[in-house]
Amino acid sequence: DGGNQREFDYFKLTVQWPGTFCRRTRHCCASNACCRGSNAPAEFTIHGLWPDYNDGTWPACCSRSRFNEKEISTLVDALEKYWPSLSCGSSSTCHGGKGSFWAHEWEKHGTCSFPVLRDEYSYFLIALNVYFKYNVTKVLNDAGYLPSNTEKYPLGGIVSAIQNAFHVTPEIACSNGALEEIYLCFYKDFKPRECAVGSILLPDMSLLKGSCPKYVSLPAYVS
Ligand code: 5GP
Ligand code: 5GP
Repeated sequence: DGGNQREFDYFKLTVQWPGTFCRRTRHCCASNACCRGSNAPAEFTIHGLWPDYNDGTWPACCSRSRFNEKEISTLVDALEKYWPSLSCGSSSTCHGGKGSFWAHEWEKHGTCSFPVLRDEYSYFLIALNVYFKYNVTKVLNDAGYLPSNTEKYPLGGIVSAIQNAFHVTPEIACSNGALEEIYLCFYKDFKPRECAVGSILLPDMSLLKGSCPKYVSLPAYVS
């Protein structure tokens, strides 16, 4: 099934900072990554791999294909570590039901990555590989931007570190002054590219998704 919308133009890998997300979510519960205390991830984890259009819009829910965890059984260990759901509330799926974070991401975004990624297994495998190859956590750590509940870091410095490493400008989203998500864009062959043409380029060169102050925090997880 090739989907019911025109083919996308490029991919956007979205990674999230657990220390920020877990502070604001009201759905933390004992069983999820958010509340695992010292086991909580100290690295950016995957939110999704999103097909986008150059005009700033995106397709969603492109086929009737339902998430089937059996198809990704060999990837589950890696996905639990690098693509955990940080929210305990179940997510809406494209067909009116409720499902896991993985089900939500596959049905909403993954199904739109056809024909580049042809099935659920390819979608999750490629997302993991791209995430490993473009390791934002390592780039920020190497530049001295370490998790902290006291430090604030210049947004321009964070953007520069990523530009120097990958030669493209990331989009960045914040929540309550803390960095929450970083978006990296890719051509269909997974070479890095700039995100949507026409995004507003800020003085510090970042393409802003959500509102970030000039200095942002990278909160360490507190149980
Ligand atoms: P938010 O409003 O939290 O930024 O985004 C809500 C949802 O809209 C996201 O979870 C995602 O599914 C979708 N979304 C937001 N921005 C983008 C984008 O740039 N590209 C795509 N493909 N989806 C997006
Ligand atoms: P998106 O913004 O990708 O369309 O939607 C994200 C959905 O997945 C929301 O319904 C949210 O409650 C759910 N969700 C489950 N786990 C996570 C998580 O770790 N991060 C985010 N951003 N959303 C999550």
